Amino acid sequence: MNPKKTRSLTACIHGGDSANPSGHLSAPIHRATAFHFPSATEGAARAADIRAAEFYGRWGDRNAREFEALVAALEQAEDAVCAASGMAIIDMIAQGYLSRGDHFLASHQCYAEVKILFEDLAHRLGVALDFVDSREASNFTSVIRPDTRLVFTETPANPTLSLVDIEAVALICQRVGALLVVDSTFASPLGQRALRHGADIVVHSATKYLGGHSDVIAGVCAGTRSALDPVWKAFSFHGPHLDPGAAWLLCRGMRTLGLRMRQHSENALQVAQALERCPEVEHVWYPFLASHPQFRLAQRQMDCGGGMVCFDIRGGMDSALLWLDRLHLVKLAVSLGGVASTATHPASMTHNLLPPQERAKGGIREGMIRLSVGIEDATDIIDDVVDALSGLPAR
Ligand SMILES: *Cc1c(COP(=O)(O)O)cnc(C)c1O
Repeated sequence: MNPKKTRSLTACIHGGDSANPSGHLSAPIHRATAFHFPSATEGAARAADIRAAEFYGRWGDRNAREFEALVAALEQAEDAVCAASGMAIIDMIAQGYLSRGDHFLASHQCYAEVKILFEDLAHRLGVALDFVDSREASNFTSVIRPDTRLVFTETPANPTLSLVDIEAVALICQRVGALLVVDSTFASPLGQRALRHGADIVVHSATKYLGGHSDVIAGVCAGTRSALDPVWKAFSFHGPHLDPGAAWLLCRGMRTLGLRMRQHSENALQVAQALERCPEVEHVWYPFLASHPQFRLAQRQMDCGGGMVCFDIRGGMDSALLWLDRLHLVKLAVSLGGVASTATHPASMTHNLLPPQERAKGGIREGMIRLSVGIEDATDIIDDVVDALSGLPAR
């Protein structure tokens, strides 16, 4: 099978076949931490190939390799590296690439803990870190430097759904030889192919859409082998290894990723349109709504809008919290990307670790709600979110 030619729905089913030569239609879970080498020569050969699936469990196993092969097939990438969480794989990218004296550029519109991790790493490693408003590619031009090693962005951004023009930022990075990393968690590989638009490494919190069932924490990144090499080296000695059972669950979840993303996207557009008609709602952000400030970019860059919707309730934090308490079908919970609809209040729940002025820089307002639209019947989701608005300030 040529991974470059495989279409997405097929890749979801067969993208990992090469890593599962056993012939089982569903691969067994390989729990062994070490392997019996048939000869001393073979032992030495495997030791020299850190990507060997059967050497030592911390370096990965067949289940991890199957998951990585699936993601690589979907992203049309040469290879992928998975880890025990989204944070762990992002950490390995930063640790693999940055050293004392480097300059590092990250987006203001990034996952809150990623920003905190980067600040901590920059401080410990002696790396100069700047944050940039990533909604305009031209903002990168003024802050990028000849010694910029790494540029980290997220699109669509959590929770505001602002976008980064990957092609434009990739060109700016290429001029100084900086590596461009795109966190594509909100889009999933079905929603956008960040590598095709010029990213060097694409990252996913696999906890979200890839797993899709809210039962596994994991992370993965994909790119060329040479781009992944420093990540892989950092991974092999830091050791945030993905458990084979978790890798198995991810492969199982990803079989239906194509179907799920289709339904998430259809539902989310309908929910976003319904919310736009509600007087209690001040503003709705969804990439495929014509009112999104970067709608044209979304149409050019994204293959589907995904399942995330963000909106501002009139009346600020009080109204937002009241609305959350009135939901029945939609569950009040953090995380996202599962089959069940969930809602959260970023200012007090997912982005509470950031000081208010930092939240404001990322565009997070006090009355903002992040909705992860599931794959239930759209009408049931709409009824629940609209009913919960009744009686809240409408002006
Ligand atoms: C959840 C998330 C992460 C972190 O992933 P974990 O799997 O929770 O470690 C990183 N980036 C984005 C955009 C996320 O939504």
